[in-house]
Amino acid sequence: MTARLAGWRAVIAVMLSTVAMGSGAADAPAGTSIGEQFPARSGEISASVAQALRPALPLRVPVKDIAPAQLVDTFTDQRGSDRSHEAIDILAPRGTPVVAVDDGVVVKLFLSKPGGITVYQFDRTRSVAYYYAHLEAYADGLAEGQLLKRGDPIGFVGSTGNANPATPHLHFAVFELGPEKQWWKGRAIRPLSLFR
Ligand SMILES: [Zn+2]
Repeated sequence: MTARLAGWRAVIAVMLSTVAMGSGAADAPAGTSIGEQFPARSGEISASVAQALRPALPLRVPVKDIAPAQLVDTFTDQRGSDRSHEAIDILAPRGTPVVAVDDGVVVKLFLSKPGGITVYQFDRTRSVAYYYAHLEAYADGLAEGQLLKRGDPIGFVGSTGNANPATPHLHFAVFELGPEKQWWKGRAIRPLSLFR
């Protein structure tokens, strides 16, 4: 009798724990399942995009006469009170040529309040967007839909948008694109890791 009761208690305990696990999973925030699908943390490239970009790596440094070793990581610098930089700033004299880091199409030439004169370029596999900002001007003839080769001219270093005129620089970012492949929508990855 006592043994039988203990047996039932064990069965009920197992049922309760099963219910608890089930409801826990159902209540998990949406971000949890996304995190499990794409394990990359902020700034890290996801495995599938790393695979797609491999033939292009390391990327060409987009500012003439700057070596990879000279680049300084400013990805996590604070910009304003509630956001981080999520890009790399490459300081150079005003008018220094800016070139494409990789082959790929010019998707958008955009005049942005913070970014000034900017270029969005997709890589050949449309896995990422490369974003070049604060340009002084575009390279002659640069147009949306144009296929760039690595090293092709894009523009010139400047301080358009919200950059300090005293420190002209290229603001360069890389975004992993979502399935809809929209140039304005992506997850920032740490550019420095792609240059070395
Ligand atoms: Zn910047």
